[in-house]
Amino acid sequence: MGDVEKIVIVGGGIAAGRATTALRRHGWDGSLIVVTEERYAPYERPPLSKDLLLHPVSEPSSAFVASEDWYAENDVDLRTETRATRLDLAASVVEVEKEVIPYDRLLIATGARPRPLPPGVLHGPSGAALIYLRTIDQSVSIRERLAPGAQVVMIGGGWIAMEVAAAARLAGCDVTVLERGRLPLLGSLGWPVAHRFTDLHRSHGVDVRVNTSVSSVEAGDDQAVVELVGGERLVADLVVVGIGARPNTELAAAAGLAVSDGIDADRFLRTASSEVFVAGDVANPFHPGYGRHLRLEHWDNGLHQGELAAANLISAPAEYARTPYFFTDQFELGMEMCGHLDRGLVYETVVRGDISSDSFAVFWLSDDRVAAGLHVNEWDAMGDIRTLVEARALVDSDRLADSGVGLDHQAV
Ligand code: NAP
Repeated sequence: MGDVEKIVIVGGGIAAGRATTALRRHGWDGSLIVVTEERYAPYERPPLSKDLLLHPVSEPSSAFVASEDWYAENDVDLRTETRATRLDLAASVVEVEKEVIPYDRLLIATGARPRPLPPGVLHGPSGAALIYLRTIDQSVSIRERLAPGAQVVMIGGGWIAMEVAAAARLAGCDVTVLERGRLPLLGSLGWPVAHRFTDLHRSHGVDVRVNTSVSSVEAGDDQAVVELVGGERLVADLVVVGIGARPNTELAAAAGLAVSDGIDADRFLRTASSEVFVAGDVANPFHPGYGRHLRLEHWDNGLHQGELAAANLISAPAEYARTPYFFTDQFELGMEMCGHLDRGLVYETVVRGDISSDSFAVFWLSDDRVAAGLHVNEWDAMGDIRTLVEARALVDSDRLADSGVGLDHQAV
């Protein structure tokens, strides 16, 4: 730790927050500045589309990685509502508003921002009835509009759309999901599981429309009108757009760091500048387990990359080789998935148990080896699923499908 006296962390999400707390936990007591554009200390995002919408009593504070008091008590200079405007790699300084801050090590954890509606779709100014979901404030705004009988339209069929749709329906709203493709979540989960989640929503009265594209949106403060290709018009009290996210790479790109899908980094989360590391949604590090660069936009990735980046900032770097993991909660189904599915590849899908029930597991095999696995409401199974995925275990698909044979007896 000897020569590292000044660290700057840019970002306000789980990766920035966990890196900050980890540095102090490791006993590093140098100058630590955290710069975030938000008006809050760093926080995690899973509650924004789940608990904060579902439980009106749930406080946004439950999302914070550490309280604002913690930063003061631990001598961390937390700069909220502050933007890092320029990075000079040669001089090892980051420009923050009008101030130039020198660093020995810099962590860029600038996250991602929602992908906007395609050009020409939004007609006129965007009123408060149209909202994206990325921040606590946006989550609170959505929650305030989830009144029984409110008409809610989700544009998109990904994680935001499906989680917010579930929360809105549970709040008594009339909910419509507009998915442009064949099924919501199809790209992430494949046909049988995407189908199961679509059925789940429909069984709860969500109007899930597939192969449906939006041609225009007009949004006032109280209502919005969504026009579909074909001419149908949907009047809504709230329209939530969840059509993906884009990594915030501008600071790094302008400084000359390599950017492809996110900011490129090596297996140690280190960019081409050895003093600059990356973590979270914006990071595109080389993943030794997959033999290629892999950018992930899930909570678990931000958390663990933030932790590892902190250690790598102050000591001999270790590689990030964690197997991807994420979870979702929608109505009565809670799901955890481990592993990564390449969209271009074809996998053998093995369903274990009855997929129409509320408790089952699914595996994806490539050359008879387990590439990924998930469970729904079988919480004890996650350890065994992770073991099979991390070992890329060679399995027999009939045996794997047989819930009479334990997951801990599957490797052949
Ligand atoms: P997402 O999960 O990546 O899904 C985006 C969806 O929008 C995809 O279905 C995509 O379809 C569709 N889409 C893209 N462009 C579109 C367009 N012009 N019109 C209509 N649909 C369009 O993104 P998200 O739901 O917006 O979530 C944002 C980020 O938060 C993601 O990184 C997500 O992983 C993360 N998140 C994660 C969780 C979780 O882990 N439980 C929960 C909430 C959010 P195609 O597949 O056809 O491109």
